[in-house]
Amino acid sequence: MKSNKLGNTGLEVSRLGLGGIPFQYISQTESSKIIQAAHDRGVNLFYTSRMYRDSENKIGVATRGFRDKVVLGTSTHKRKKTDGRRDIEQSLRNFGVDYIDVYSLHNVLTMGVLKEIMSPGGAYQALEEMRNAGHVRHVGISAHQPETILAALEMAAFDVVEFPLNIADREAAEGMIEEIQSRGIGFVTIKPMMFGYAGDASVAFRYVFSAKPDSTVVGTYNLDELEENLATEEAAAGDGAAVSRDEIINAIAASERKCFKVFCRRCDSCVACPQGIDIKRMLRLYEYFDRYHSGEWAREEYAGVRPGLQNCDNCGICERECPYHIPIKRELAKARVDLMPRRSPRRLIKKKIFGG
Ligand code: SF4
Ligand code: SF4
Repeated sequence: MKSNKLGNTGLEVSRLGLGGIPFQYISQTESSKIIQAAHDRGVNLFYTSRMYRDSENKIGVATRGFRDKVVLGTSTHKRKKTDGRRDIEQSLRNFGVDYIDVYSLHNVLTMGVLKEIMSPGGAYQALEEMRNAGHVRHVGISAHQPETILAALEMAAFDVVEFPLNIADREAAEGMIEEIQSRGIGFVTIKPMMFGYAGDASVAFRYVFSAKPDSTVVGTYNLDELEENLATEEAAAGDGAAVSRDEIINAIAASERKCFKVFCRRCDSCVACPQGIDIKRMLRLYEYFDRYHSGEWAREEYAGVRPGLQNCDNCGICERECPYHIPIKRELAKARVDLMPRRSPRRLIKKKIFGG
């Protein structure tokens, strides 16, 4: 197992880490078998969240015999200092440890949430206090939007960034990775397999490794999956053989057939929308809304994009141009409904009374 320095934290982490989501759904015995087998093969990063029910407890039990040889990471989705501190204390009890290597602010969705967290009385202060007390070694942040990450890095000295990176969402991280790494911040990617939608593990991991993260955290439900992931890591020599555009497009197509989801391949064949709609961007926003539970952020982003989807006149030119037969009109119609700002009750009442 290749390992890397985690930014300037002084920690060394395995290129492949284990994520905590699956452990909440499987038994302690199964979790312990996976964690022990992974550790035996060189995995030393175990990363979860307070949100993932008893995953901290299970990781804590499984790593008890080799605590000093692993890097434990977890996160809080709480926004206020008092709630954040309570979460950190609970995590320490759950893991059964007196310090946690990396503690992160989880899934910071919008700039508004970021401001709340960083304000006096916000959750960041809880992390700082617990770091000063020695219970947290390093402070991290996870978000799905580069803008939020970059703004956070301007506000405070984060040690680690966790960010989703996979074949279907390639452009999101562009420009951000260099910024993170040039600052000596640890870079951990998450969701390399897109919850299993990525299909071909070899392509998915080679793509992620080529971005040179310090580690990539992946959820693993059983020993077979673990073996597949470890074998893929071993097969990806160095930083991973380059992944061709065709390989990525084929992998996404295969996964679409498998899971009946619509994936835009970002091929740019539909740029000539007569109404000037940025179709690729709209589909990406809708993917965030639909798959990554980032509805609030997607709506905020959509509000700033011109022209909006109300300008689509259903001409169908985009669908004729799309080589992957994406039902663009249907997806954009759904996006229009879901991404449009909600009308306030006041406006609805006004409309009812005055017909406005
Ligand atoms: S159907 Fe809508 S999005 Fe597609 S090309 Fe026509 S106006 Fe543009
Ligand atoms: S042509 Fe199809 S696959 Fe290509 S960017 Fe447009 S919607 Fe996506």
